[in-house]
Amino acid sequence: METIAERLKSAYQTIKQSAVDAHRPPNSVKLLAVSKTKPVSDIVQAYEAGQRLFGENYVQEAVSKIQALQDYHDIEWHFIGPIQSNKTKLVAENFSWVHSIDRLKTVQRLNDQHSAHKTLNVCIQVNVDNETNKAGLAVTEVLDFAQQVAQLRNITLRGLMCIPKANTSAEEQQQSFATMAGLFSQLRALYPEVDTLSMGMSDDMGLAIRHGSTMVRIGTAIFGHRA
Ligand SMILES: *Cc1c(COP(=O)(O)O)cnc(C)c1O
Repeated sequence: METIAERLKSAYQTIKQSAVDAHRPPNSVKLLAVSKTKPVSDIVQAYEAGQRLFGENYVQEAVSKIQALQDYHDIEWHFIGPIQSNKTKLVAENFSWVHSIDRLKTVQRLNDQHSAHKTLNVCIQVNVDNETNKAGLAVTEVLDFAQQVAQLRNITLRGLMCIPKANTSAEEQQQSFATMAGLFSQLRALYPEVDTLSMGMSDDMGLAIRHGSTMVRIGTAIFGHRA
């Protein structure tokens, strides 16, 4: 079996190659290692192999890992899961990025609870395939929403995130990524700090990069299947 370090290395190779294939600079795509449900020891292995950006989905689980790893000062923690309003304080205090913003009330609470000394980076989650049970804003709602987020003092709007429909055809997948790319370029033209298109996971990172992803969120391909 491959080690976490080996799988991380091959994920970076895939990313670089996909970027080059898309005529993009090889270092234009960041890798967020999604460590949800995985033990602290796995995160340490990835860290020792050079990984610094980690993503977590569940607040309670994440906070206990972050505390256990508090001596690893240069880890950048990204929250990528759904946020209940009673958990915003914990998220604001422990993370420097949140990818899953889709309600004004939540982002306002994060703004109020975040330290005024630093900024919380956020991405707006887009329900790009209009799935009934999926979080995220409709494509048509994003620009108005962004305008409100951009006004919050302790928040920096960095871009967009999506989780496209699972198990669809390659054509539909392309279509969803292309929609995101179009929306991202509109947003970028309006807000100078927008630089992040968080899209692509273990199974679709190559395609996402071809469509302009700047950050892929990779769990399974690095840490193995989740229980
Ligand atoms: C779990 C998760 C990932 C990682 O998915 P893999 O298929 O394991 O790479 C990425 N993004 C979000 C929002 C997730 O919840």
